[in-house]
This record gives sequence, C-alpha cells and structure tokens, in this order.
Amino acid sequence: MSAVLKVAVDGAHPYAISIGADLLDDGVLLAATIRGRHALIVSDSNVAPLYADRVQAALQAVRPDLTIARLVIPPGEHEKTLQRFGEVLDALAGLSATRDAAVIALGGGVIGDLAGFAGACWMRGIDVVQIPTTLLAMVDSSVGGKTAVDLPAGKNLVGAFHPPRAVIADTSVLHTLPDRELRAGLAEVVKYGVTAVSLDPADAGFLDWLEAHAEALLAREPAITAEAIARCCAFKAAVVGRDLLEHGDRALLNFGHTFGHAIEVEQGYAGTHGGGLNHGEAVAVGMVLAMRLSAALGLAPASAGDRLQRLLQRLELPTSIPEGLAPDALLTRMRLDKKADAAGIRFILADGAGRARVVPGVEEATVLAV
Ligand code: ADP
Ligand code: ZN
Repeated sequence: MSAVLKVAVDGAHPYAISIGADLLDDGVLLAATIRGRHALIVSDSNVAPLYADRVQAALQAVRPDLTIARLVIPPGEHEKTLQRFGEVLDALAGLSATRDAAVIALGGGVIGDLAGFAGACWMRGIDVVQIPTTLLAMVDSSVGGKTAVDLPAGKNLVGAFHPPRAVIADTSVLHTLPDRELRAGLAEVVKYGVTAVSLDPADAGFLDWLEAHAEALLAREPAITAEAIARCCAFKAAVVGRDLLEHGDRALLNFGHTFGHAIEVEQGYAGTHGGGLNHGEAVAVGMVLAMRLSAALGLAPASAGDRLQRLLQRLELPTSIPEGLAPDALLTRMRLDKKADAAGIRFILADGAGRARVVPGVEEATVLAV
C-alpha cells in the first residue's frame, strides 16, 4: 500500500506526506522536494550506514548538479543538544548553503527534531525534508513541524514551529528497526485510536481496527503496518492543519503524556539504554493511567482501562508504573509541570470510545488514587 496525504496549514506552504515501500530509492520523488543546488543529509550512525547511500544515489541520479553533504552523529536522545545543533549549522556553512538549500533529516525523532531545528534557523529558515526511519517518527514527530533540542534543564526547551517541505515515510526501513523501538511507536499509534473520534469523526473505528490487527502490527506485516501509518498521519495532518500552534485539539495528541512525561523525568530519562522506559513505553503506561483516571471521574466506563491495557499488553508494552517509582513523586512532577494550577492538574481524558478532551483542575487526591 502506498499513500500520499496533504497537510495544509494556514499561512504555510502545504506539504505532502508520502507513505510506501522503497520510497528511499525514488529519485524523482526525492528530487521534487529539493529546490536549490545544495542538500545536507543529517543522520545517525545506526541509520546512515543502512540508508544514506541509497538516498544520496537516488537523488544524485535525478539531480547530478546537486551538491550533497552528509553529517552523521551518534544515536540517542542525549545527542539532541545545542552543540550538535551547532554542528549541523557548521555543516551548512561548509556547504556554502544558500536560502534555497535543503536539510534532509534521515532518522528517528532525534534526528528529525535536531536537523529540523537547524533548518528552521539557518538563514532564518530553509526547506527541511523529513525522512523518518522509526515508526514513532513516521506517525508522530516528523509530521507537524515541531522542532527542538534539549537543554540540561529539560527536554525540548529550545525549538521552533517549522513545517517540513515534505515527509517521506519509507515503510521498508522498519524491517531493521529494533523490536523495542517498533513497540514504542505502536504506543503512539494506540494514542490515535483512543482519540480518533475527536481527531477525525470520519475515521472513528481506529481503536477497533487496532484490536483486530495487534499481532499483525507486532509482526510488521507490511500492508497492515502501512495502513496504520497512513491512518495515523491522516489524523495528525488533519489536526495540525487546523491547529499548528497547539492552541486547541492538537493537545489531544498528548493523551497519556502527562503521566508519561512524569515517569520519564522521574527516572532521569534513563530510556532504552539506561534501564528505564523509553518515550513510547512511558506513554503506554501513561495512557492506561489516564484511562483509569477518566473512569474514576465518570467520563469513561470502568472497563475502558482494562480494554486499553489488554491491547497494549498484546503489543508487548508495559502498562503499570515501573518498580521503584513512587506515585507521589510522579504527582509532584506533574504539579511542577506547567499543566497544573491551584485547583489541580490538567489532563487529556477520554471516554474509551474514541473521544478525548482537555480537563483542567483535576484534584490531586483523585490522581493519586488512580
Ligand atoms: P525516536 O524516533 O523514537 O525518537 P530515535 O531517533 O532515538 O528515536 O531512534 C531510536 C533508535 O533507533 C536510534 O538508536 C536509531 O539510531 C535507531 N534507528 C532509527 N531508525 C532505524 C532503522 N530504520 N533501522 C535501525 N535502527 C534505526
Ligand atoms: Zn509522544
């Protein structure tokens, strides 16, 4: 299956999200996204050896005049720094990149955020082509134009809204993605199921569809995986199109993230390599908690939490707070987060049947009980 979706944001260039197998080798598709004579491929040292040559060769075959440089950084969230950001800018300077140059972000969310932010800043903004290589980046971070780097003080503290010139999601690259990264992406896919009706009433049955295809998704069945990506991108494109700056329903995409972020911060962003939960896993736990909170407040039936937990377990994701993390420590984290006021904490809550909404001022006692 292949699909092309359009994202149209008010005041910004509309852009296409192309989804399909072997798009990395499609020189015509790639070249159509490059306007000038300079392109910088930014990637990490896991992804570049697998895919950078293919992208470069495909592009160069159609555009022999194009000067292409490459910057490869070590993998991992801890590389999303101002220092690496500076290295991307230096690489653009080394290329004598002009205003019509393009940055090609080839990698997961880390590369997309970092290269995207550099593209947003070089000469006050040049084209960024997102080529996401993780499921998480395909369904979430590559679409929507959020770019950022981390500071020692916290994640994503410096960044810009900079919609990409194009998003090219080649589903074949998922074959080399480690299992754990695939499952982390599936957590974000489930998030769309929980909020589907609110995001796009025309595609209300996504949660049921996920329940029918959980094992196929886990087994990376190509047609099912591609359909999931296309439907998630359509949800995200629709929401971003009407709410680029997250004043409204784009916030629904943060379902499970208030609890999830608290878990991530509390374990010091230990992530996959530090023995902790990675982002998608923390969101999986956070979604179960958010659904149980929704039930405790009478917004969802009591069974909704169990139903969501069963689906996430079939996807081999964690569904309870990791050993050693105290619930009241998580509560303190959430209170410190900008989402709290005197009345309580702000959550995205759901009804268990695809509808979600922002609920401010949730009492801490209710949260702790969950
Ligand atoms: P995310 O998209 O979850 O934010 P990262 O950018 O940190 O994640 O990527 C997760 C890990 O997977 C990194 O170690 C990265 O190098 C690796 N990776 C990304 N895409 C692929 C792929 N297609 N095949 C193999 N490894 C990949
Ligand atoms: Zn997320």
